[in-house]
Amino acid sequence: MTQLGHLGQRCRPRPETRALRRARQYRSVGVTLDFECRGAIMERKACCHCGSLRVTVTGEPTAVNVCHCQACQRRTGAIMHSGVYFKKSQVRMEGPEKIYTRTAQEGRKMNFHFCPNCGSSVYWNADIRPDEYGIAVGAFADPNFPPPAFSVWEESRHAWTHLPDGIQHFRQGRI
Ligand SMILES: [Zn+2]
Ligand SMILES: [Zn+2]
Repeated sequence: MTQLGHLGQRCRPRPETRALRRARQYRSVGVTLDFECRGAIMERKACCHCGSLRVTVTGEPTAVNVCHCQACQRRTGAIMHSGVYFKKSQVRMEGPEKIYTRTAQEGRKMNFHFCPNCGSSVYWNADIRPDEYGIAVGAFADPNFPPPAFSVWEESRHAWTHLPDGIQHFRQGRI
């Protein structure tokens, strides 16, 4: 499994998938195939600070963003939140969780799922994106995670922060 280390830190060993089993069988006869990166089953794992609330995602995300709103600043304790969105069918969760619901603009609800042991907020679902889960990019602890494409609520952005070239900027939420 060491050749898969570039996919980022794992929260715990994962079960062998059919594609991984095929890759192992090919390797056993001297053929090396990287099914995870070239196929459609790229898998990534996120978890809370203590490791008990875990999320596994397969495939590629629909969006990656950063948010500078003050609710995200207080929720995360960080000056900026980064989130990634996946279709619900691409996401699997395990471990205990509690939910904190906050009302956002125009009465829309956002449900933040957090670990009752360590308090990390790992993922959320929101009325505004009913078919997707959002997952905290930091919970993947993977420095090679895809960068954000857009940045929202910049009206409360900390002035010293710098974002990648080409990113879309929004003073408030994305229209
Ligand atoms: Zn935890
Ligand atoms: Zn926010």
